[in-house]
Amino acid sequence: MAKIISDVVCPFCGTLCDDLEVKVSDDGKEILEVYNACVIGTEKFLHSQAEDRLKVPQMQDEEGNSKDVSVDDAVEYTAQMLCNAKKPLMYGWSSTNCEAQSVGHEIAELVGAVVDNTATVCHGTTLIALQDVGVPSCTLGEVKNRADRIVFWGCNPAHAHPRHMSRYSIFPRGFFTGKGHKARKMVVVDPRSTDTAKMADLHMQIEQGRDYELLSALRVAIRGNPLPETVAGIPRETIQDVAETLKSGRFVIIFFGMGVTQSLSKNHNIDIAISLTRDLNDYTKAAIMPMRGHYNVTGSGQVLGWQFGYPFCVDLSRGFARYNPGDSTSNDLLRRGEVDAVFVLGSDPGAHFPISSVKKIAHLPSVCVDPHFTPTSAVCKLHMPVAFVGVEEAGCAYRMDNVPIETRKVVDAPEGMLSDEEFLKRVLTRVKEIKGVA
Ligand code: SF4
Repeated sequence: MAKIISDVVCPFCGTLCDDLEVKVSDDGKEILEVYNACVIGTEKFLHSQAEDRLKVPQMQDEEGNSKDVSVDDAVEYTAQMLCNAKKPLMYGWSSTNCEAQSVGHEIAELVGAVVDNTATVCHGTTLIALQDVGVPSCTLGEVKNRADRIVFWGCNPAHAHPRHMSRYSIFPRGFFTGKGHKARKMVVVDPRSTDTAKMADLHMQIEQGRDYELLSALRVAIRGNPLPETVAGIPRETIQDVAETLKSGRFVIIFFGMGVTQSLSKNHNIDIAISLTRDLNDYTKAAIMPMRGHYNVTGSGQVLGWQFGYPFCVDLSRGFARYNPGDSTSNDLLRRGEVDAVFVLGSDPGAHFPISSVKKIAHLPSVCVDPHFTPTSAVCKLHMPVAFVGVEEAGCAYRMDNVPIETRKVVDAPEGMLSDEEFLKRVLTRVKEIKGVA
């Protein structure tokens, strides 16, 4: 008889939903149904069952033809590549557990690598802003139970974090928000009329790239000072209306995404959004939170932070940790030709980096550790298939609000398939042998 596994954690986005139920076959080997997840989360679980899944490592020859190799060969190639490189880049880490990240960092320290995660193309600018000015934030539980003024600035949770609004931010009835969405006012700032914007009480359809000006204008309006007729395409009256709406709330939360982190002004957009949040605390309670993307990008920053003091682009090539975004960030290093080997785990830069960087990866010794065929696995010399964390392997992950949640294993990986952590441990052992350290 099929059995239901409950309290399963979804290993896809930073919402890290922990209320999934998964129906598995009675032998515990096959996923039959996934309940409560959104369509993206469901697909992640079902994709692990794909018939055409890669089960053995693949190595490319000079002509780019792939052939099967053993796991031992994959471990040997990876260890030799990392030890022979002067400055290898070890990139990704956002779609794996904290345990694997920690082992990866130990290897990076031994071989003098640069360790960078997907924040480098996502919320890295947010991290820079937090280091500059600090942050008044909270947990998603506080949002659910208290927030009555919700701002989504440059983000589209209806598509990117599909259950965020139903679990935490708009629809749930919390301890002090018993009327659910009826008692909340929703403000969306986006140049496009997104599906999130269509649900808003107030949509500020800002001119693209002018977020800094509009954030400044809101700070002016909150203080009751005069404004020009329009700012960033938004009429003065609308800005004043939004300012009054936020001030009149009992608890304001500002969620923001890549519309501000990766547009003009970058980290300075976040500086001023944090300053706006601080200003609002003169009138009510206000907090701000980045909509972190991958389910464990936050964990990657946490583990790097505990181990080396910095949350991304950590350069260990001189034997101690250095952090300098713009210098030690993956795309800057790749485009300047400053790394001589690339190791990717838990990410797909082949699909998401600029083509100039991908071309550089294609010409370097490279390893892609990933359960899927991806554009990255297509350009890397070695593709090492592994188990799906959160589906076939348990481990710790951090939600977008820095709350750690233990993911669950629901089925076994195909026979002989290593987890990220197991593969990295084998590489670490071999690296230690090559380096002659105990
Ligand atoms: S919202 Fe995110 S974490 Fe929740 S089920 Fe969907 S993809 Fe998974």
